[in-house]
Amino acid sequence: MLTSSTLESRLSIQRPSPLQPFTPDWPGAQHLRLFIKRDDTLHSIISGNKWRKLSEQLVQCSSLPTHIVSFGGGYSNHLHALGYLCGQLGILFTAIVRGDYSQNLTPMLHDLQRWQSKVCYVSRIEYQQRNHPDYLHQLGQRYPDSIIIPEGGSNQTALHGVGQIIKELRTQTENIDAIIAPVASGATLAGLAQYCAIQPSFERTQVIGIAVLKGVDYLESLVSNLLTHTLENWHIEHQYCGRGYAKADAEVLELCTQMHHQYDIPIEPVYSGKLFLAMKKKIAAGDFAPGSKLVLLHTGGLQGNRN
Ligand SMILES: *Cc1c(COP(=O)(O)O)cnc(C)c1O
Repeated sequence: MLTSSTLESRLSIQRPSPLQPFTPDWPGAQHLRLFIKRDDTLHSIISGNKWRKLSEQLVQCSSLPTHIVSFGGGYSNHLHALGYLCGQLGILFTAIVRGDYSQNLTPMLHDLQRWQSKVCYVSRIEYQQRNHPDYLHQLGQRYPDSIIIPEGGSNQTALHGVGQIIKELRTQTENIDAIIAPVASGATLAGLAQYCAIQPSFERTQVIGIAVLKGVDYLESLVSNLLTHTLENWHIEHQYCGRGYAKADAEVLELCTQMHHQYDIPIEPVYSGKLFLAMKKKIAAGDFAPGSKLVLLHTGGLQGNRN
């Protein structure tokens, strides 16, 4: 029997991740109780929400798969986490990557090569089919005995792994008014919302997503489609995505530097930088009632910080 704790000890995942009080000198922050859930510290490589999303998918296999296939872009934190994990556990890994980086490897792709992953570059057109049943069927024939994990590791099973965050928080503090997390595919947000809804002490907790992609008005439907039933305890804020995914504004970069130097908390501009900047602005705008207890989820992803 495969359990998440056996996997976590084989991979040296440090659970639970700490819940750290955060007292920035931001305008308005003195009236709030802020905490950071440091999922970036789960592991130096398999960091943040990517482990949360993958753990249950591996456990559900009952014995370790021999081959995993998954999808992502050239900087994907998900492929990076999965490539390392497969290397450590002796699982063959095929990464289907959008676009051809063969002449121009990103740091992430260099790592995959080092970890003996098989990288398969596909056109944007082919990549668009990544969730299509016919395409998945073809992949299943090309790679028999493999399990295929969707982009970002995001599916309904992933929600149960994300639920571990809520279970840990329950033992770390109480009466949380809101949990705030960055959103790309929505699986992390969906998992937080679903598990808050079923944990008695989190019934009143609001889950707030900060969109990191620009102009993506279907994010809400991604989250609803992952949820098994309709919930009212979450929403997504779209005005903090800046110029869009992976396009860092000077403001975000400046905050990343400040967080690192002033508070010793490393963040990166694609996800956590936007989360923290959004929080700084929301707090200054008085969006939270005085005395609110807020938990910011640091989803990790620091590997994406390299150029
Ligand atoms: C992938 C990722 C996210 C987005 O999570 P979703 O579940 O896809 O919404 C957030 N933060 C980091 C660091 C990530 O790598």
